[in-house]
Amino acid sequence: MRKILYVAGASRSGSTILDIYLSRSFNMFSVGELTYFFEKGVLKGELCACGSPVTQCAFWSSVIRAFGWKDIIKNAEIYSRLTDRFDGIKGFLRSFRLTRRNELPFDVSEYLSLTNRLLSAVFQVLGTGVILLDSSKLPSRALWCQQLSDYDTYVLHFARDAAATAFSWTQKKLRPEASYLGKDVYMVRLSYRRALFRWMRYNLYATMLRYRFPTGRYRFMRYECFVAEPEALSKEILTFVGGEPQAGWNNRWGYHSIAGNPLRLNKSADLTIVPDHRARKALPLWKSGIANLMSLPLSKYMNRR
Ligand SMILES: [Zn+2]
Repeated sequence: MRKILYVAGASRSGSTILDIYLSRSFNMFSVGELTYFFEKGVLKGELCACGSPVTQCAFWSSVIRAFGWKDIIKNAEIYSRLTDRFDGIKGFLRSFRLTRRNELPFDVSEYLSLTNRLLSAVFQVLGTGVILLDSSKLPSRALWCQQLSDYDTYVLHFARDAAATAFSWTQKKLRPEASYLGKDVYMVRLSYRRALFRWMRYNLYATMLRYRFPTGRYRFMRYECFVAEPEALSKEILTFVGGEPQAGWNNRWGYHSIAGNPLRLNKSADLTIVPDHRARKALPLWKSGIANLMSLPLSKYMNRR
């Protein structure tokens, strides 16, 4: 059975670091935030992590060939609309309810069929024995991936401290993957307060996935723990997915993730992970205190085994 490791949680949680580390160390291949393949990769022409536009890079053009060029163009807008509807955070509770009762809405079949075709094309290019790492993070997408019988989906709920995540949302950051055509495009920014509520909502929903995935298919991990011991925790993740470290593993494709933190475009980024304390230094005490108070009950709940 083909395996997918799905990273769920809130954006700006440091999952790009996790992505880079796992895909360089083990037989895992990161596709980044696959939910945006059609919208950002095909329709908007944004750059892949390798630095080429997604539709022109060696890896993704092989995937597109496997999918069928004509079908990619034909379905790009349709799939972007479908992901808005089915992957979006607004629809999570509905998706949670419907998948529990196994009452799938009739119009989800097109979304599931296109997701299945896209995954199948990716695996066709990658070959056997590779675990696909999808960092889309949207909790609904994990529920829908679970409906695809050709794949074993494992959920890794990855969360960062609420204050640090909210601080990251307030920072101005260029998106070079969308700026290469001459116009500067920046990452979306939110106020600190809105970013805190966003953290709560996404992490609450990602926590609910533990009630939908059987034991051994859901795992929670903190960003702060991962960056403190990346090697040990990466091995734990690999064991969780039922993989084995493969001596001499050679990723012949390289790194080709879609969307996510612009850090992924930095080819010189090495495997040395340094904990990021910028938020702790920059935030006044009362602001981090509010974040800690607000997030405490959910943080405790997320940590429960
Ligand atoms: Zn690429």
